[in-house]
Amino acid sequence: MRFLSADVIYPSYGNPLREHVLIVHHDGRIDGIVAKADIDPLKIEHFDGALCPGFVNAHCHLELSHLLGKFPMKTGLPAFLMEVTRQRETAMEDIISAMQEADSSMWQNGIVAVGDISNAPHSLDIKADSRIYYHTFVELLALDPQKATTAIEHGNAIVALAKERNLSASLAPHAPYTISTLLVEGITRACRDMGMPTSIHMLESNDENEFYVQATGGYRKLYRELGIPITHFEPTGKTSLESILPFMDKDVKTLLVHNTIATVWDADWAENLHANLYWCFCPNANLFIEDRLPDIPELMQHIKHIAIGTDSLASNHGLSILDELKTIAHTFPSLTTEELLQWATDGGAQFLGLSDRFGILKPGLSPGILHLTTSEIQPETLVNRLF
Ligand SMILES: [Zn+2]
Repeated sequence: MRFLSADVIYPSYGNPLREHVLIVHHDGRIDGIVAKADIDPLKIEHFDGALCPGFVNAHCHLELSHLLGKFPMKTGLPAFLMEVTRQRETAMEDIISAMQEADSSMWQNGIVAVGDISNAPHSLDIKADSRIYYHTFVELLALDPQKATTAIEHGNAIVALAKERNLSASLAPHAPYTISTLLVEGITRACRDMGMPTSIHMLESNDENEFYVQATGGYRKLYRELGIPITHFEPTGKTSLESILPFMDKDVKTLLVHNTIATVWDADWAENLHANLYWCFCPNANLFIEDRLPDIPELMQHIKHIAIGTDSLASNHGLSILDELKTIAHTFPSLTTEELLQWATDGGAQFLGLSDRFGILKPGLSPGILHLTTSEIQPETLVNRLF
């Protein structure tokens, strides 16, 4: 047994604990959390700063790891996507080694579980060999409703390959501007039948709403540049969220990713319609692409569940949940470390259905145990992995 203590312990449920000791088996399984006074002081290992559970990265794209440092920042999303389309193809060995490096850096950064978006099967072997738990969201795109069935068949084939490797996987629609309502219905029905969560990029930029309101703006231009006709797309006159969410199965846990331009009205409307929504913030990617952040302190008053993601190395400088939390803490100083850590651990674990393994410091669990070098999240905080 090890007896770990720190200035403060954030269990990610209930209040932060001071003057407490975390008792941990040598394999990382938590035996208990007890008052410091009850433990022989000679046995206690004290850490300056804080202890918390391992981080859950609710949104990543391991497949895009080779695109680190390739794109200009602050171009807006349609221009960014054009670059991804142009530069995505690279020699497979470079793609694989970039993914391996990204996987081990996430481990070093204290991440224990990842919700990872995949368009192809080539990240599966790395995930199967990783010390990190991965849930793969096989991401589908097809604006043309006639292509929905083929897309779902293609996605199911990748889900089957994941299952062959004992990896958890389910289907996910990409984003409102690349899907049809038929595709969304088919995907979320399949997720419901499998008892699995899904994920969708949502409300990332004003162009997204403009496309749905009147089929103009950056996405119309993007489709024209890609030479893809959008004759089958009919604008709804509503926001992207209003246009898509009604077609998503309400029994399926659904991660709305980014929410950069989400308003309180959007949050109220969506929560009212769908009881299983999780709102994922990826602040560093938002700053990289759009140079703006969602109004998290406002939104959090109107939504039930929050998780944190890094997005991919195409739109971020690293895959570190702690760095995401630093950005949020710096921008919104009214938020507490306790709140941020709950989102970064328990929030993602709940969404991925992993609450019996990760997310909280509770006896019987092996959630990973992290040492943060300061009691509260600050620009200089570092993370060390204890388990
Ligand atoms: Zn993403």
